Amino acid sequence: MGFRILVTDDIDNEGVELLRAVPDFIVDDVPTLPADQLLARIADYDAIIGRSATKVSETLLKAATRLKVVGRAGVGVDNVAIDAATRLGIAVINAPAGNTVAVAELWFGVMLSLVRHLTRANVSMQEGRWDRSDLLGTELKGRMLGIVGLGRIGGEIATRARAFGIKVSAYDPYIAEDRFTALGVARVATLAGLCAVADILTVHTPLTAETTGLIGVKELASLRPGAIVANLARGGIVDDNALRVALETGHLRGAALDVYAAEPVKGDHAWRRIENVVLTPHIGASTAEAQRNVAVDACEAVRDALLRGDLSRSLNVTMPAGDWSLLRPVVDLAQRAAEVARTLLADHGARAIQSLTLTRGADLAAAGTTLLSAAALGALEGVIDESRLNLINARAIATSRGITLGIAEDSAQAHPRAIEVRIVADGQEMRIGGVAPIDAAPRLTRVGPFHVDVAPRETLIVLTNRDVPGVIGHVGTALGDAGVNIAEYHQARLAEGGEALAVISVDGPGGADLRRTLLDIPDVQSASVIHFPAVE
Ligand code: NAD
Repeated sequence: MGFRILVTDDIDNEGVELLRAVPDFIVDDVPTLPADQLLARIADYDAIIGRSATKVSETLLKAATRLKVVGRAGVGVDNVAIDAATRLGIAVINAPAGNTVAVAELWFGVMLSLVRHLTRANVSMQEGRWDRSDLLGTELKGRMLGIVGLGRIGGEIATRARAFGIKVSAYDPYIAEDRFTALGVARVATLAGLCAVADILTVHTPLTAETTGLIGVKELASLRPGAIVANLARGGIVDDNALRVALETGHLRGAALDVYAAEPVKGDHAWRRIENVVLTPHIGASTAEAQRNVAVDACEAVRDALLRGDLSRSLNVTMPAGDWSLLRPVVDLAQRAAEVARTLLADHGARAIQSLTLTRGADLAAAGTTLLSAAALGALEGVIDESRLNLINARAIATSRGITLGIAEDSAQAHPRAIEVRIVADGQEMRIGGVAPIDAAPRLTRVGPFHVDVAPRETLIVLTNRDVPGVIGHVGTALGDAGVNIAEYHQARLAEGGEALAVISVDGPGGADLRRTLLDIPDVQSASVIHFPAVE
């Protein structure tokens, strides 16, 4: 049986040729179509591949009765109605890795431009001057580069930096030791530690709740006088205002920016008055090669999805066999249990996950891998670029990050729909257990060695404290003062007078300072706040 594929938005020909080479495929390569024309012909196709210009709306997807795959030659999928595609069982595939080298090479371009004043030199020549004395630069050799986020792009920069004789350190608490060793990069345990040693600080993390404003007033002030800062990742990771102040006061020597908190940056913007910056208009991925790479990546992934049913590159979820409404609560429970385990470990300084094991009750045999995917999702959420992470690809991403995944059946589990997630990170272990009865809301039943009973709803607080009188009252008062409403409060202890643990379910997201407030309460030893992503 043949497949018809609609290729649009002028994606690179190398990708199109790869599809044409498959005898079973009929490929129509058309320029970007007006919405009504696309709607009129979409029912003929098994797959559509494009870039951001073509809007793949819910209306279009509903009309696309044969459609199995949407391919996006690039990273962003803002133009695709993913939730609708998921509901309709249509895979959405993107191409996140093809841009890596383009960004890494741009980094060296802007960095050399900065330290050798290349843009100023060029302007002075074009204006007919010969300003050599004004253009004394510095060398990159021997500098200490501090990379925040040693993923694909951070890694490519590290590799190339060695050729320049640059020393490289990095901070990435979510990456295992082996990657640092393989890249020849010195691992720094804290961001503060990296700021203390870096001559050039560069960020290459996704924009997440944790990385928003990651480099702010405090971090910039802690850099050595004369340091350089670069953000070619996502606007908002470095606080633009704080950066401008640090440049204006002369504390920093320079900065290189490709991304901004609010884009596009046009007209009489604040950066125009800052001299020691190299600014580019979000062109990290703008190379012919990157465009070809993303076209080839997307076309290969669509080809494999159609021919082999390989959905490992898919961004969205296809419904598992069986009754989704019965499976959904336990899938959510596994994801949340993993999120709790990861947060508790991270709050105890253990972030690099080595293994994740999902133990399931007897009635969940068929759901094992889906539950493991959900647990992997919970363990990675907020750590890697979220637009690329979902139930379908969570296991593959976890494995590629060196996390050993396993499923075990525990026939002795008290409940046939019970699960337990066990995560080991930096040698520390955390087990979170729960149960999702068919006729009642899911509950968490175990946190480490403690037996608990609480529903993981919007936000969960986990506290450990010395088992002395008065703590519950102090916690209640502190939460009340912070305007946080308690839905459930479960107190557990192993032995009288020893360590006690409280699991508190609260309404709303809690505040940014909630953890700090709780840690300030006398006798509270640790506090973690876990806010669960909304479930539609
Ligand atoms: P990646 O997912 O491969 O790597 C991101 C790394 O950041 C991961 O190793 C992760 O462990 C680490 N990380 C996450 N949270 C962290 C934290 N709080 N502290 C330290 N490290 C943390 O992503 P990538 O492909 O290398 O992309 C990096 C960034 O570059 C992304 O923000 C991406 O959107 C951006 N990007 C920009 C352009 C451009 O045009 N300028 C093009 C492509 C990608």
